[in-house]
Amino acid sequence: MEELFSKSVEELNLFCKFTEDEMKILENADQAAEEMAMPEYEHYLKHEFNHEATEIAAKYGLLGIPIKKEYGGSGFKPIISTLAKERLGQLGMGFSSFFNVQVFLCAQTIQRWGSEEQKKKYLPQAVKKDKIFAFGLTEPEAGSDPSSLKTEYEKKGDKYILNGTKYLISNGTIADYLIIFARSKERGVGNGRNISAFIADTKSSGIERTALREKIGLFTSDTGMIDLNNVEIGEECEIGEPGKGLNIAYSALLNARLGVASGCVGVIEAALNAVINRSRERTQFGKPIGRHQLIQQHISAIRQNLEMARWPTYFAAIRKGEYEENPNNKDLLKEIDLRVSLAKRISSRLAFESADRAVQVFGGFGYSLLSPVGQLFCDSRVTRIYEGTDEIQDLKIASSLLGKDFEAYA
Ligand SMILES: Cc1cc2nc3c(=O)[nH]c(=O)nc-3n(C[C@H](O)[C@H](O)[C@H](O)COP(=O)(O)OP(=O)(O)OC[C@H]3O[C@@H](n4cnc5c(N)ncnc54)[C@H](O)[C@@H]3O)c2cc1C
Repeated sequence: MEELFSKSVEELNLFCKFTEDEMKILENADQAAEEMAMPEYEHYLKHEFNHEATEIAAKYGLLGIPIKKEYGGSGFKPIISTLAKERLGQLGMGFSSFFNVQVFLCAQTIQRWGSEEQKKKYLPQAVKKDKIFAFGLTEPEAGSDPSSLKTEYEKKGDKYILNGTKYLISNGTIADYLIIFARSKERGVGNGRNISAFIADTKSSGIERTALREKIGLFTSDTGMIDLNNVEIGEECEIGEPGKGLNIAYSALLNARLGVASGCVGVIEAALNAVINRSRERTQFGKPIGRHQLIQQHISAIRQNLEMARWPTYFAAIRKGEYEENPNNKDLLKEIDLRVSLAKRISSRLAFESADRAVQVFGGFGYSLLSPVGQLFCDSRVTRIYEGTDEIQDLKIASSLLGKDFEAYA
């Protein structure tokens, strides 16, 4: 196993006591990441989606880690998904973003909120990667505030008709299925309780997709805009109860935020590995740069960042596992919501800071996508934006201390 990852597994095993099956899937995650590294690098330079990585992830059973056995997955606890995602994060956030959407935003959401028919139909396809999924919440005018989304649905007989635009959607142009959040046309814009969730086949007529390529990183992740023009779907495509769309979206985001936090831990590990190697090999002023004390300060800072990012992420994951065994415990849900926000806020800031320090240690070569750290720097910036920005996490964290009367947004 990769050294830092193996250390994480070893340390957590002291109190999580992993089973043989859990250890095996973590070894798989390590092996898969090893196999993905070169294709991920090559596709990154070409700025294209890495289909090979999805094949490898499916081959090693990674796409089904939190999905129950009866739907084709392996039903592992969140701490296992978290560790697997940490290892994938060492490759940067490109493939990690695909994974977050396919597994945490979509498959887990169908597992939690879908009907039995939906679970039987979609989950085995998500796990085997036969089909790619995307999650369409954000719109051009609705980002941090999804309750203001404008995409509409109208019920006509036993069909729903969808109209609207979804923006910045990961896997957007390659997905076979889209989870779409839309509000009831009858009740108008501005009331979060009118929002419902649907699953649409991207082969449906009226769906137009445009790739958004001008990103400043995340080059192996597909990002798209999706126009829905009178898209007709069957009534069996609604997920969960009508009007519960925002609850569904928030629970999906909770899973995905933890995924971002763990991916960020992997980014910090990758930055640390890269600077250690570079500091030993690169010579200036007649000695390896690692012998210069100011370079050692960067190494020490990244190592500290790793420690500060890991434990809140692991603790959130362990508590989330307890909640999944007691899904009616509302106090525990509240605690997890806070812990996951803390983990995401801390890890994403420290991942970006670590990648920045790593670029500094690499000097001019660091400021290049050809170096292992240029990619980490470009990729990690987005983790402070998607699945809820820094500011939204800060508001959640502060209001959890100040009380409901102090919530900055409703
Ligand atoms: C590469 C990428 C992939 C993405 N993938 C997906 C996806 O798969 N599915 C999906 O639905 N979305 C996706 N998103 C969208 C992402 O979730 C949003 O960008 C994010 O939620 C922020 O929304 P926004 O960009 O509209 O910013 P805005 O909401 O317009 O925010 C702009 C700024 O204002 C701040 N702000 C907003 N409200 C407040 C407030 N009340 N108090 C203080 N500050 C505030 C924000 O924190 C931010 O700094 C993706 C985004 C990116 C960049």
